[in-house]
Amino acid sequence: MSQEHVVAVNPIFARPGEAVAVERYRMPIGEMLPETAYRIVHDEVMLDGNARQNLATFVGTWMDEYAARLYTESFDKNMVDKDEYPHTAIIEDRCWKILAGLWNAPDPTHTIGTSTVGSSEACMLAGLALKRRWQHARRAAGKPTDRPNLVMSSAVQVVWEKFCNYWDVTPRFVPISEEHRTLDGHDLAAYVDENTIGVVAILGVTYTGAYEPVKRIAEALDRIQRDTGLDVPIHVDGASGAMVAPFLQSDLEWDFRLERVHSINTSGHKYGLVYPGLGWVVWRTADLLPEDLIFKVSYLGGETPSLALNFSRPGAQVLLQYYQFLRLGRSGYRAVQKSSQDVARHLADSIGAMDAFELWNDGSDIPVFAWRLKPGHTDNWNLYDLSDRLRMKGWQVPAYPMPDNLADTTVQRIVVRDGLGMDLARDLLDDIRAATDFLERLSGPMPTDGAAPGFHH
Ligand SMILES: *Cc1c(COP(=O)(O)O)cnc(C)c1O
Repeated sequence: MSQEHVVAVNPIFARPGEAVAVERYRMPIGEMLPETAYRIVHDEVMLDGNARQNLATFVGTWMDEYAARLYTESFDKNMVDKDEYPHTAIIEDRCWKILAGLWNAPDPTHTIGTSTVGSSEACMLAGLALKRRWQHARRAAGKPTDRPNLVMSSAVQVVWEKFCNYWDVTPRFVPISEEHRTLDGHDLAAYVDENTIGVVAILGVTYTGAYEPVKRIAEALDRIQRDTGLDVPIHVDGASGAMVAPFLQSDLEWDFRLERVHSINTSGHKYGLVYPGLGWVVWRTADLLPEDLIFKVSYLGGETPSLALNFSRPGAQVLLQYYQFLRLGRSGYRAVQKSSQDVARHLADSIGAMDAFELWNDGSDIPVFAWRLKPGHTDNWNLYDLSDRLRMKGWQVPAYPMPDNLADTTVQRIVVRDGLGMDLARDLLDDIRAATDFLERLSGPMPTDGAAPGFHH
C-alpha cells in the first residue's frame, strides 16, 4: 500500500498483533483497541493550529472548567427531542427570551425565536421568513411572487449568497466604496422595489468588524416608504455584534427599538462565548414569523412549535449558553467584551502608528479591526507577505481583498477574542514589528509566488 493511503500508528501504542498502519480512506476490516484508536485521532489533530494564536476566527475556543463539566454531562442531549429533554427545551426558550430582552423587543414574552447550529442556519430561517411574508402579501394583492430580491452590502458574509442561491432569491448587492464603507442607506432607493423581501444590515461586518448604521438604513427605508408606499423590513445579521453592542454600546439604536427591524440573528459561539455549534434567531413579534414555516412537534403530551433546517442536533451548547448568561450576567459580559475591546484598540493604535500602515477601522465597534498598506508605500512587499511571516511565529492574521467596489484594496484583520490578553498582544506586536522591519529592509520585491488570499469569510 502506498504511504499516502495509510495512517501510521506509533509502534509504542500498537498492541501485539495489532496493525501498525491503517488505511486512510477505507473502513478497517477488524476492531482495534480503544487506546490505539484514540491515539491515532488524538495525534492527528494535535497538528491543528493553536487556537489562541488564531486571530482570524470569531469562534469561541475557551470556556471555564464548570462549562466543561456541564458539557461532558450533557453532550448526549438531542435538542430536537423535546419530549425526552423538556428542561433543555425550557432553557432554550429562556435563552432566546433573554436575547429578545437584551435586544429591546417591545414585549420579550411575545417574541418568537429558536436556537440553531450557528448564525448561518439562523440567517436562512430569517431570510425564509422575509420571503414567505412577502409572498403572502403579494398573493393577497393578486401580484406575482416569482422574482423576490434581497438588498444587502457587497460585504455580506457568504451565508447571504448561499441563502439567495439555495432559496431562489436575487441578491442585490450595494457596493461599498471609500466614501460609503458600509451599507449606510445611501442610494438605497435605487436597489429597493416591490419585489424586495427585505434589507440585511450587518452588525459587525466580517471583513472589518465595523457596524453598519442600522438606524440610518431604517430612516432611508422610511423615506422610501413615504415616497413609494413600499414597506421594506430589515433583518440584522448580528452574528458577532448582537452579543457585543448590548454590553458596550447600549445607547446605539440598532435593534428592536427600530420598528423596521423584524428579526436578529447572532452566533452563540462567537461573542456569545460558547463552544462551536450554536446560533440564535429572534423575531420582534411572533406574527412576523409566518405560521406556515412552523412545524408542531409533540412535547410533554402537548405540542411545541419547531422551526429549524436540521432535525437532530446537540442540546449541550444551549445549556452552555444559559450557563454563561447566569455566570456572567450583564456586568460579566460587559467586562469580557470590554477587555477584548481594550486589547483591540491598543493593537489598532500601535499598528496604526507604524509607518507602513493605515487603519481601516479601530476596533471600537466589535473588537475587530483591519488595516492596509499606506497607498504608494512600497512595491517590494504586501500584506500577504506579512501574513506569511507572522505564520512563522504561529500567528494566523489573514490578509484578503475587500469586496466590490474595493476589490483592489487588500486589508489585514485581527479578531480579538476572550483569551487574547494584553501580554499576548504585546508578543504579537513585537512579532508584527519584527516582521515588518524585515520586509522593509528588502532591497527588491518579494517573489510573488503563492502571495494570494487563502482565506474565507
Ligand atoms: C460568522 C458570521 C456568519 C455565519 O455565522 P456561523 O455562526 O459561523 O454560521 C454570518 N454573518 C456574519 C456577519 C458573520 O460574522
